[in-house]
Amino acid sequence: MPLKRLSRRLDSRMVALGGVGMAVAAWFIDAAVDSAFFDPESDFWQSLLQPNGHEIWMRSFLGVALIGLGAIAAMLLKLHESAEQELSYNRALLEKFAKDLEVQNAALLREIGQRKEAELKLSKLATTDPLTGIYNRRKFDETLQDEIKREARYKRGLALIILDIDHFKKINDNYGHDVGDQVLIRLADLIKRHAREADSFFRIGGEEFALISYTHNSEDLHDTAERLRILVEGFDFEIGQRVTVSLGASRFLPGDNFGSLYKRTDEALYRAKGAGRNRVILL
Ligand code: GH3
Ligand code: MG
Ligand code: MG
Repeated sequence: MPLKRLSRRLDSRMVALGGVGMAVAAWFIDAAVDSAFFDPESDFWQSLLQPNGHEIWMRSFLGVALIGLGAIAAMLLKLHESAEQELSYNRALLEKFAKDLEVQNAALLREIGQRKEAELKLSKLATTDPLTGIYNRRKFDETLQDEIKREARYKRGLALIILDIDHFKKINDNYGHDVGDQVLIRLADLIKRHAREADSFFRIGGEEFALISYTHNSEDLHDTAERLRILVEGFDFEIGQRVTVSLGASRFLPGDNFGSLYKRTDEALYRAKGAGRNRVILL
């Protein structure tokens, strides 16, 4: 922009002085023109220093006009200068705000990330059994409630298996509590590795576990439970004796709710214990 480039070279005081300079120059030029063309009898110096009344008026008027124009131009330039100054000050202020905001935004994003991580850790802690690392009772209650609600709509063939280690108290008594813990950890790991991907596995009590599974067929459910029983029976827990489990199993039936499904499955487990342990009962 030409005005911008000009204003960068000139400042308002120079422009005002320019007006005065032009007024003086006009006096000189007019004296030269007068002595050369209009009044050949008078020489330049006479015309310059002793002009007649008419010339005095002419030159004074021209001078005042030029000084006035210079002053107006200087004022406009001054206004332009201060507007530019204010603009660049505001720009610097805005840039600083933007930088501050960027820093605050980055800090906020970091905090959100940390909070999400903490929430995730907390929710994992709240739903995980600390000994075995599998889901705990709280997660079991939540999951089974959810699955029962979904069953009404998706009819995936919801089924529940509860398994309980046989005579676990004796294992503790014979080998110590730490060995008992190792048995729990190994059993949880063993079943978790062999469960189907869609199934979920939980520790719901001291030596009691639950598997939420899906099948439309009772025989299939019995087979699943039986496979788990054989898996545990055949596994070497490295404690110098066999470990067995009893299992109760039940499919979700029309009209069932959490309580009725759980109670029926628990009753099946109770009967498996009563019938001699290391077996599956399906109700
Ligand atoms: P049953 O065949 O009838 O199930 O007999 P059981 O001995 O397995 O059952 P009981 O309910 O009499 O005993 C369960 C034992 O499990 C008692 C308790 O000390 C033990 N137990 C519960 N939680 C833990 C645990 O986290 N670690 C260990 N080592 N033992 C546990
Ligand atoms: Mg037991
Ligand atoms: Mg028990």
